[in-house]
Amino acid sequence: MDQSATLFDVIIIGAGAAGLVCAVTAGNRGHKALILEKNTSAGKKILASGGGRCNFTNLKVSSADYVSEDPDFCTHALNRFKNTDFINWVQSAHIEFFTKDKGQLFCKKTSRDILNMLVTKLDKQRVTLLTSTNVLSVQHDPGRKQVTNLTLTRLNSSVMREMHPRSVDFEIPIFTVKTDNNTFSSKNLVIATGGLSCPHLGSSDLGYRLARQFGHKVTKRHPALAGVIFPAALKNHFSKLAGVSLDAVVTTAGKSFAGGILFTHTGLSGPAVFNASLFWNPHESLSVDFAPSCEDFKNWLNGRKKTDNKKQACTVLSKIMPANLAKTLCAIAGVGKLTTGAVSHHTAAQLSTLVKEFSFVPVATAGFAQAEVTRGGVATTHIDPQTMESTIVRGLFFAGEVLDVTGTLGGYNLQWAWSSGYVAGLGTLKNP
Ligand SMILES: Cc1cc2nc3c(=O)[nH]c(=O)nc-3n(C[C@H](O)[C@H](O)[C@H](O)COP(=O)(O)OP(=O)(O)OC[C@H]3O[C@@H](n4cnc5c(N)ncnc54)[C@H](O)[C@@H]3O)c2cc1C
Repeated sequence: MDQSATLFDVIIIGAGAAGLVCAVTAGNRGHKALILEKNTSAGKKILASGGGRCNFTNLKVSSADYVSEDPDFCTHALNRFKNTDFINWVQSAHIEFFTKDKGQLFCKKTSRDILNMLVTKLDKQRVTLLTSTNVLSVQHDPGRKQVTNLTLTRLNSSVMREMHPRSVDFEIPIFTVKTDNNTFSSKNLVIATGGLSCPHLGSSDLGYRLARQFGHKVTKRHPALAGVIFPAALKNHFSKLAGVSLDAVVTTAGKSFAGGILFTHTGLSGPAVFNASLFWNPHESLSVDFAPSCEDFKNWLNGRKKTDNKKQACTVLSKIMPANLAKTLCAIAGVGKLTTGAVSHHTAAQLSTLVKEFSFVPVATAGFAQAEVTRGGVATTHIDPQTMESTIVRGLFFAGEVLDVTGTLGGYNLQWAWSSGYVAGLGTLKNP
């Protein structure tokens, strides 16, 4: 069937997490929906998420888990379609899942279970999904105001006057969406094009360009939930530690994150670093506590000076951290092969700073190529949080990561995509 001749109730750009839930929600209530997706298949980021097991939500979700210029913006959507609502969908589809640390929910088998569940829901409705369809541009006819059902009052034999219009209609706005192989029209348009991270999974800047075209501001965007790159001087010290992991606390911009860190060939990665990257700004420092279980390191070292006096300091240090890291930190502090007893007061203080407050200014994050998400996006100032509709252009909606709402690590970004997609799907019903 030639879909281009059809006027859709809603066109959704992007068949990612937000777009799919939006389509399910609108389709479920009778809307004729079209999803346009440039990838050859839907939901590539869903498949890649959670290391292939999709950390699809968290047991505890609130606005405190998100970063945005408007921290309360996400609250309504998160309450309208809660984590428990999505968990109900997952349970109804008999998808097995488990809880990992910090309340993260993962599929037991594969992320594909989540994608299949959403696509199955779509199949039951009046939703058309067109893949391999790259949206190039959108034009918008705002519709005209129209007065109907006029009461005509006879003033005299020849003059009629319009009185008491009974209702004022607005002609529906029409969005004309041009793709690389066709043109489609709709009464509502949902922009669910995601962020800039992982271009190989389909990211594009189309959502931001369209937002600006329609008068919306776009905040500065940074790669986030990513590793960080060491400055050259540190790379020399740490590159041989690539693959070493440990539990640590990473602090930046006054926020601390406890969790795993991993040395890479170029810098640091792992959950605690990912979370810190969400708050890190270029040229600011990042500090790592390599031994969080040892609260008072100086005291601990003094104790070892008594009990392990003759042992090499670096061997003793490896009791509380991986041996390679202990060796490297001892080398930087100038401890070398000294025994614990021979470490001077001054050197012990230096070692303590390296262990507990290892501070450096990353050159950058690992960048959009590797980041899980984009911090920043379409400013929420002119978006109605109850519906995700633009307050500038009627019938225009935004959902998911394209907006300036970014979650910390733990299933929060997908939950935002589900919640905002759902609310946008309901919102489009206002313009039947
Ligand atoms: C490797 C990786 C692992 C992740 N793991 C997790 C996790 O476990 N838990 C979690 O909560 N979050 C995770 N995230 C983040 C999460 O996947 C995203 O925040 C979420 O998928 C965003 O959903 P979205 O629908 O807004 O955007 P997307 O899922 O990115 O979907 C946007 C869609 O729009 C399409 N598109 C873009 N431009 C066009 C165009 N011009 N024409 C047509 N289509 C277009 C894209 O191809 C894409 O399919 C992960 C991200 C990555 C990269």
